[in-house]
Amino acid sequence: MSFRTRFAPSPTGPLHLGHAYSALLAFDQAQAQSGEFLLRIEDIDHTRSRSQWEDQIFDDLAWLGVEWPKPVMRQSTRMAAYSAALETLQKRGLTYPCSCNRAAIDAALSAPQEGQPLIGPDGVIYPGTCRPPRAPEPRRPPVVRLNMSAAIDVLSKDHRQLSFIETGVGPDGETGEISVPFDKLEAEIGDVVLARRDYKTSYHLSVVVDDAAQEISDVVRGQDLFEATAIHVVLQHLLGLPTPRYHHHALIRDEDGKRLAKRDDARAISKYREDGLNPQDIRAMVGLSLP
Ligand code: GLU
Repeated sequence: MSFRTRFAPSPTGPLHLGHAYSALLAFDQAQAQSGEFLLRIEDIDHTRSRSQWEDQIFDDLAWLGVEWPKPVMRQSTRMAAYSAALETLQKRGLTYPCSCNRAAIDAALSAPQEGQPLIGPDGVIYPGTCRPPRAPEPRRPPVVRLNMSAAIDVLSKDHRQLSFIETGVGPDGETGEISVPFDKLEAEIGDVVLARRDYKTSYHLSVVVDDAAQEISDVVRGQDLFEATAIHVVLQHLLGLPTPRYHHHALIRDEDGKRLAKRDDARAISKYREDGLNPQDIRAMVGLSLP
């Protein structure tokens, strides 16, 4: 499989050192393998995405010395592909509508018999209030959830377990072939949201559909998304899409050990540019050698 990777920022704020590291690492790996590096704008969240941030992303990446083919894929233009994927899952009975709000989920989870709420890649694990056959009538426009136990029933007919190849390292040193055991999927991930109320898709569904559409062989991204990879592998199998290799990298942290956030303007690439630093300085700061 030839090497093709991507950097997939959401235009919801300035790129900071952590993004620069991710983009440069992916770009360097593509160069080293005589492969390709793509840029994809993940702007499904129209309430938070801004064209001003998109322009700044292009500008900062070009300044860093990253090059990519144009035009870039923008997720806001891909809704038909996401709807088609969702419909495939819906037709197979693998999804259900859910109209619980945060308060209803918290109330169900705080019921004494439920025990401590477990936290998964998307926050608290959904307690299953709307899962068929219990499904109450939706009271308001629903979200669409994956029925994980129905998904496991389907997948376990063909697979003993799912797995993916990690060429980088997960938060606990995971590397090589990483198994995704079915029992963990139900207990530690649960019925994740595939289509949100406001924008009818989700990060998980869109990223899986687009990585396949762009024939990405190697996903390079931060370790904060390592746990979410299990969700992506499940969706790839359910949708008949290939599983790329994954390269999760360590997160760039501030002096207090906290990972950088979009609002962390002090470490925005644009700020370093204003301060007169050059791209080599940024490479040195994130521990990457010169190209
Ligand atoms: N758009 C995601 C983010 O900005 C990255 C998704 C990915 O690399 O899979 O965090």
